[in-house]
Amino acid sequence: MENSEAAHHLIEIQSLLNKISFHKKNIEKNLLRPTSIKNQRDKTQQRLEEVHELIASVEKTFNDEDKQLQKDTKDLENKDKQKNLVTTEKELSAIEHDIRVLEGSISILEEKAFKNLESKEELENEEKDLSSFLNGSLKSLQDIEKEVLEANKLEQNEIDLYEARVEGIISSLPPSMGKEFKSLMDKFENDKPLSFLKNGCCGQCHYSIPRTVEEALQKSFSLEYCPNCNRVLIPENVPH
Ligand SMILES: [Zn+2]
Repeated sequence: MENSEAAHHLIEIQSLLNKISFHKKNIEKNLLRPTSIKNQRDKTQQRLEEVHELIASVEKTFNDEDKQLQKDTKDLENKDKQKNLVTTEKELSAIEHDIRVLEGSISILEEKAFKNLESKEELENEEKDLSSFLNGSLKSLQDIEKEVLEANKLEQNEIDLYEARVEGIISSLPPSMGKEFKSLMDKFENDKPLSFLKNGCCGQCHYSIPRTVEEALQKSFSLEYCPNCNRVLIPENVPH
């Protein structure tokens, strides 16, 4: 293998790695797509549970107060009957007092019953809205998740192709160089393991590279590392 041929291969690998990382980022972006609708659905579900509890509590209050209302109404009927049977002024005035107390209580309970029915109706309307959002958004969520699955399958196909090409190129390198470069790729997590020399400096970290290294590289390409960022250096005379 010619000196500069290996360098060309490494450059091609780096460009494939860039493409792979582009498609991996797309996969991550796609996976975020259902998040906002999922969050909205979670909040709605939570509120729906609260509304169920509130309805149950309003119903319980309504029933308790209704029992009291029925009892007071019956008591009032009895007092009205008794009123006709009393013989003394004192008894009449006591019964009339009881009747006024019962009438007061009945009127408060009737007002409460009306308010309870009103708030129950409001809660039931909210319950309907929340449920219909959950039903409607379930369909959209499933559609989005299906789209994401399809889109990511395509992204993964691209990645698989590029990875196979990287493997192919690595196997065409001299074995020791291939092995060394592969471990460098792992070290950099496939993110720019190469650096191009520029005016005697590392193109990635701008560290000044010793002239001897640069001259040796230009004569014959081998894996030489930037002493600062540890990337493999590609000499300036290799076009890229
Ligand atoms: Zn460097």
